[in-house]
Amino acid sequence: MIVYEAPEWAPKLPDRPDHIPIGEFILNPAYGRVDPKVSNHPYVCGITGKSYSVDEVVERVEYAARAIKQILKVQDIHKGGPQTGFSEWEKVVGVFSVNCVDYLTLCYTVHRINGITSPASAAYSASELAYQLRDSQARVLFTCTPLLDTALEAAKAAGIPKENIFLLPVPDAITTEEMRRKAHGFKNFDDLVEEGKRMEKLVALRWDHGFSRKKIAFVSYSSGTSGLPKGVLISHFNMITNVLQMYLYSQSFREFSKPSNVLALLPQSHIYALVVINQTEPYAGNSAVILPKFDLSLFLTCIQRFKLAFLFLVPPLVIVMAKNKAIVDKYDISSVKYIMTGAAPLTEELSKELNQLYPGIKVVQGYGLTESSTVVCYTSGIDIWHGSSGCILPGIKCRIVNAEGRDVGEGEPGELLISADNVVLGYLNNQKANDETFITEHGARWLRTGDETIIKRSPAGNQHVFIVDRLKELIKTSGHQVAPAELEGHLLNHEKVADCAVIPVPHETAGETAKAYVVLKPGVAATEQTKLEIMKWVADHKSRYKRLGGGVEFTDIIPKSPSGKILRRLLRDKEKERRRAE
Ligand code: AMP
Repeated sequence: MIVYEAPEWAPKLPDRPDHIPIGEFILNPAYGRVDPKVSNHPYVCGITGKSYSVDEVVERVEYAARAIKQILKVQDIHKGGPQTGFSEWEKVVGVFSVNCVDYLTLCYTVHRINGITSPASAAYSASELAYQLRDSQARVLFTCTPLLDTALEAAKAAGIPKENIFLLPVPDAITTEEMRRKAHGFKNFDDLVEEGKRMEKLVALRWDHGFSRKKIAFVSYSSGTSGLPKGVLISHFNMITNVLQMYLYSQSFREFSKPSNVLALLPQSHIYALVVINQTEPYAGNSAVILPKFDLSLFLTCIQRFKLAFLFLVPPLVIVMAKNKAIVDKYDISSVKYIMTGAAPLTEELSKELNQLYPGIKVVQGYGLTESSTVVCYTSGIDIWHGSSGCILPGIKCRIVNAEGRDVGEGEPGELLISADNVVLGYLNNQKANDETFITEHGARWLRTGDETIIKRSPAGNQHVFIVDRLKELIKTSGHQVAPAELEGHLLNHEKVADCAVIPVPHETAGETAKAYVVLKPGVAATEQTKLEIMKWVADHKSRYKRLGGGVEFTDIIPKSPSGKILRRLLRDKEKERRRAE
């Protein structure tokens, strides 16, 4: 076995508290770096400037928890026990909202009564949301005014009654009068806080030592290495670990003594934003300045107004900054010291280009996945290597295993395996996926990432992680997950489709997009019109980012293994060859 770990200079990962919820770790000065004396405001609205201090967030959690406890009919918030599914006393609350200041406050409120939060992408269609609500057994749904129509349709399909639907407050600027009219009569988070003020105090949450290692905080959705999106069971301890790993590692190059403002534009429902931006930064005493949507002038105005020091982006947003230098130059962005990208590969060329265009800004990259509660490796800022995903974080053991199952040394490609306390508990109700993804070898539990990786040593002597390809089925468009199996299942429901396979193809701005190979039913004409119909079938029912941007190609047969597994690799290779020949 060959194990790769954090560089020598990285701080060691100490023991962490395993008897508290993640929110307490972030907001209680006994653990985090928040300082109520300087009145840190962990979450600030990038449009209105509205914010709450740490003390106010803690108070809002306490009040709203009283109201939500009643709605969910939680009897006893002391019970507990190790688990990898839900216990009958645990209640799941779905969150389907654009980014807003109360998002994490709501999550901490749910945790305060021993509940579990299931964040859903704000880009979801009603059927996609209904799938997650049903699968996660959500009893209550928090949404927001702009998404209310979709939320109502999904909640109905998932059996959540209307009185269990609540709103998270969002700025008026992103709503229309029509939306506000429809939202009339629904209670929002502020109403629950007010109601809670008049209710009986809750008993303090007292967990035994070790309890937060098994206690689920979030059930997020990821398709993993294959199949449909699955509920990923993330414990409080998993998150506490990753927050501390990121914080300690970042200390080697970031100055945390002065609280600064960072950009919180990426979707709070996705693990990158949930852990890195909205929890690690507040833990460090910084403010996450929240934007509910991307718009170039809003983005640049926000940087200038809040003097943002750190921008968390994904590669498509890096491209926007690279392509729009003339517009960017009209704003004062001199406060920006770092741009961090993650969730999808940032090429060496793009990283260098950005660096040349904005020489005062350091471009750093992180790599991680939902199944590792996010970050596994991250550019240190003192040893930047364009195209690399940086060095391994403290407390994480990595192996690179080739196709023959042999551990390989530096410079050789293979699948990245991870063993650490930030590796999640597993998938909800899916033994097969758990057995395939979380394996025990050499006396340790390893997460198979499905990412092809090479470890290379920098001139400074550090081992850097390069993610070179994806061995798993997953497609990533603009950092969002697209599961081929989900689109294939949907395409098979189209009256003209006999068989199909979906693969990723490169896309100029999104990185990748989905392409479908389709076998038509006998007698169906293989025309452009049929292709358009099939593409519309996806566009009408799925999130925008799941559209077949790579189009449809008709074929006579879908390559399959003797057991019937689609051999997507053959189609990907064919596609690559064709592109090389062009
Ligand atoms: P998610 O669970 O949505 O965060 O997706 C995780 C997957 O995104 C990883 O397994 C990788 O395939 C991909 N990914 C994340 N960060 C990077 C990166 N820096 N470079 C290449 N791929 C990445």
